[in-house]
Amino acid sequence: MLGGTFDPVHLGHLRSAVELREVLGLDRVHMVPASIPPLRDAPQVAPQERLTLLELGIGDTPGLVADGRELERDGPSFTADTLAGLREEYGSQARLVMALGHDAFLRLADWHTPQRLFSLAHLVVIDRPDHDCPLSPALSELIAGREVDSPEALMQRPAGRLLRLALPTRLALSATAIRERLAAGRSIRYLLPEAVERRIMAKSLYQQI
Ligand code: ATP
Repeated sequence: MLGGTFDPVHLGHLRSAVELREVLGLDRVHMVPASIPPLRDAPQVAPQERLTLLELGIGDTPGLVADGRELERDGPSFTADTLAGLREEYGSQARLVMALGHDAFLRLADWHTPQRLFSLAHLVVIDRPDHDCPLSPALSELIAGREVDSPEALMQRPAGRLLRLALPTRLALSATAIRERLAAGRSIRYLLPEAVERRIMAKSLYQQI
């Protein structure tokens, strides 16, 4: 799974999802928008609209799934609950991977029940341009003894390991930069799929602060 705010989805998310699937040999990548992200400001656009943009962005891309399960739960969106649901669906022996960008990884020790994540899935950290930083002591302690250095090492168990991965394409894109461009009336062409841009423009999303 690749969770996020997706406010809005952009090519950095989508290209990373496609490459994760290829590099790790995954059947599917569930892209899961958070309804209420616990550790950041409220998203600018409503959860259902962010899911619609995600669906448009994915289009017919093989293996990518726009997964709205967090929108059906009340309260903050805890990733461990989402992983528990996926574990139940796919079974105890399935290899589950939770992917996140390096910026999100740096805050992992502050998440709700971070140890539980490792009992449910492997964690794969995607390198992001401009997001390199040392790990906090709490984070180092959390990941101690879990790190492996190849995708093959994730094959041997259903969960519990950590892999840091440089995907073939690194795109220095962020939703923040896209929102800022829209608010300033500047172009977002080629930063996200055309269908997503069309909907943003038709609904005048993100165009005032
Ligand atoms: P914002 O700028 O609003 O913080 P964002 O672009 O970082 O948004 P999120 O929805 O917060 O997007 O990200 C969802 C997940 O995708 C996070 O784990 C994040 O690190 C990762 N991600 C976001 N952009 C990229 C990118 N360009 N390349 C690789 N991973 C990314």
